[in-house]
Amino acid sequence: MLHCFRCGETFAEAALLWRCPCGGILDWTGPESFSRSSIRTEETGMWRYAASLPVDSPDSRVSMGEGGTPLVLGDWNGLSVFWKLDFLCPTGSYKDRGMACLASRLRELGVRELIEDSSGNAGSSMAAYCALAGIECKVFVPRYTSEGKCVQILSYGAELVRIPGTREDTSRAAENAANETYYASHNWSPYFAHGVKTFAFEVWEQLGFQVPDAVLLPAGQGSLVLGWALAFEELLASGEIDRLPRIYALQPENCAPLALAFDHRLDTPEPFSKKETIAEGISSAEPVRGVQVLSAVRRSGGTVRAFSERSIWDGFNQLARKGFYVEPTSAIVGAALEELQSAGELREGERIVALLSGSGLKATEKILALIGDPPA
Ligand SMILES: [Zn+2]
Repeated sequence: MLHCFRCGETFAEAALLWRCPCGGILDWTGPESFSRSSIRTEETGMWRYAASLPVDSPDSRVSMGEGGTPLVLGDWNGLSVFWKLDFLCPTGSYKDRGMACLASRLRELGVRELIEDSSGNAGSSMAAYCALAGIECKVFVPRYTSEGKCVQILSYGAELVRIPGTREDTSRAAENAANETYYASHNWSPYFAHGVKTFAFEVWEQLGFQVPDAVLLPAGQGSLVLGWALAFEELLASGEIDRLPRIYALQPENCAPLALAFDHRLDTPEPFSKKETIAEGISSAEPVRGVQVLSAVRRSGGTVRAFSERSIWDGFNQLARKGFYVEPTSAIVGAALEELQSAGELREGERIVALLSGSGLKATEKILALIGDPPA
């Protein structure tokens, strides 16, 4: 069953709506709680948590072994940081968790062709899972998208459509084209965040079923925040845990509608006049689920913060010196560790989780340009 977040109407999943006729976002009404007895211990990767996903039967899965990524304890100037290495998923980003879930469910529902729009990583991931599922896939990307990501999308056999202008122009072009084909936007999808939430279940299990104190998550549309919140609230509901970790949602200053709304105590982000950012994967001026993201951060006792281009680039270099070659978008967690530690918001002795979302191998061209001409 799907439920409209705005008007409360419910719909059968077979209706294949990507949004409510009222314009509202749709949520999948899945299980409200999850406990360790529900873990499928015979499974690997994200499917250990299948009891909490819209795709239950192993026969329905479209899977390349996503999830099951390492959680590595490291040091950041005296802080203990657990790095969650989701850039090691099959297509090089955490998006594979959401796409495995989304592609599996859409194939079950009989979808044979679809349209996706993306700043790159989600498009690559969607193209890969559609190839595996036998679904025809057309991906709309902004013209500024890294060459590496475009090549990857094309290699999986998807059709690539480059749109001039902003990320938002790309979304509008995809919405218009979707009058004829199913629009499988991962941001609007009621299923995507449920796949993503498996990284949070995994962190909890890898920590020996302990609750971290804080988690650092890059946030554009905010699917990592939504996924994390879904998982930990299901654990809270079952009584497995007794408190929620503080969520730090991280945005570039050049595109920070969620941070601005958080600072101004608004429930809904206002349109943001964005500038170019090296964190291209979280450059979303109009986050579709912004209301839900802000609410999840507030419920956790966390905050939304914005970081300068220079500090994100510094974060990239510091992470690389620790052996993590991530894309500049992911490097925002380095910027955040630096600033939040200085401000005394992250403290020694706390259990801190930082998600590394995408591989640097996708962005070598951009990284090369940044080495030659770093942000001021
Ligand atoms: Zn509605």
